[in-house]
Amino acid sequence: APPAVALRPGRHRRVRNGHPWIYANEVDMTAEAKRIPAGTTVDLATADGDDLGTAFFNPHCLVVGRLLDTEPGAVFDRTALADRLRRALALRERLFDAPYYRLVHAEADGLPGLIVDRLGDVAVCQLNCAGMDRLRDQVLGALDDVLRPAVVVLRNDGAGRAHEGLAGEVAVVRGRRDGPVALEENGCRFVADVLAGQKTGWFFDQRRNRAAVAALAAGARVIDYFSYGGGFAVQAAVAGAAEVIGVDRSDPALALAERSAELNGVADRCRFERANAFADMQARAARAETFDIVVADPPAFAKSRKDLPAGLKGYRKMVRQAAPLVAPGGLLFVASCSHNVTPDAFATEVGRGLARAGRGGRILMTAGAGPDHPVHPFLPDTAYLKAMLLQLD
Ligand code: SAH
Repeated sequence: APPAVALRPGRHRRVRNGHPWIYANEVDMTAEAKRIPAGTTVDLATADGDDLGTAFFNPHCLVVGRLLDTEPGAVFDRTALADRLRRALALRERLFDAPYYRLVHAEADGLPGLIVDRLGDVAVCQLNCAGMDRLRDQVLGALDDVLRPAVVVLRNDGAGRAHEGLAGEVAVVRGRRDGPVALEENGCRFVADVLAGQKTGWFFDQRRNRAAVAALAAGARVIDYFSYGGGFAVQAAVAGAAEVIGVDRSDPALALAERSAELNGVADRCRFERANAFADMQARAARAETFDIVVADPPAFAKSRKDLPAGLKGYRKMVRQAAPLVAPGGLLFVASCSHNVTPDAFATEVGRGLARAGRGGRILMTAGAGPDHPVHPFLPDTAYLKAMLLQLD
């Protein structure tokens, strides 16, 4: 039988109501519970001994328990994993007509801590909690059963793993891959580096927001800050932008973006430049350059709670420096992928940045990640992406 872990008196209510996480202070942390190896699948019970379900357990974490099933003794093996993968795949096939998407988004897909991005026959996985990490072979087996990807890459180098006491690792565990992987998004073709690129190599979360910006780009002069693989830039060019500049500080990212522009036949209208975004904004403002559309989708400025004040300042500064580049009547798209920044806090900083720049305007759209990044209904704060499209006067 799996080990049993009891919650403290009264602390089972949230889980009973559907919340999938158990926090350290809610568990009766006996010497026995403390000795359970990180990532073990356990049976959870209330203080009175009533069953709560089956969960991953990691006694060394703030989130000690991640619920897998409301039945006790549920077997979470290759077959069970394949079942949940199949459901996740059915949803994506319903949402998209091409096989390029986030296939698994952790808790929201019933697979705590597991991320899988699919780029055709290449699957890029992150095992972000100890429970999933212990099941690595079963996860890979289940992926074979459901998808049979030619290539599987483990991008186990995200920050989340350190919290769970897991080491970092990047490895190709099925097939072989060196060199970029092709993908499609909103009818455009791209190349991504799934081994050395940011996170899993491509940010599918901005798919709809890139389409929203592109839909307004015909004839426009566009600048895309933090352009990475050129998702916003190339799609704007394909939609008919007159001129697009992508700015990033990473040479490999700029090279991929350039290749993607070529793949779509828009290289003549795209230019990718290596620069620090903030310095570049200032330099262009000093030259009184303006654009019809300015995009700024940076990396997370607030990576932890202690970075929050500095992170918020970063977003305010970014908006203050980007606003002068927006022509009167033009559009500003800004985003934040910081988990710790709430939508309200982001909106406040955007407003402050505009005020400091002396610009008024109106919000045309607030948005989050696309539907291949679903959110567990009891974990609304895992909806990390906040995006805003504004028109400036
Ligand atoms: N907007 C992109 C994702 C951005 S990822 C997309 O749609 O896919 C963050 C990018 O910002 C990385 O490519 C990184 O190289 C770049 N970056 C980080 N700090 C920067 C800075 N100060 N100036 C310019 N680029 C920066």
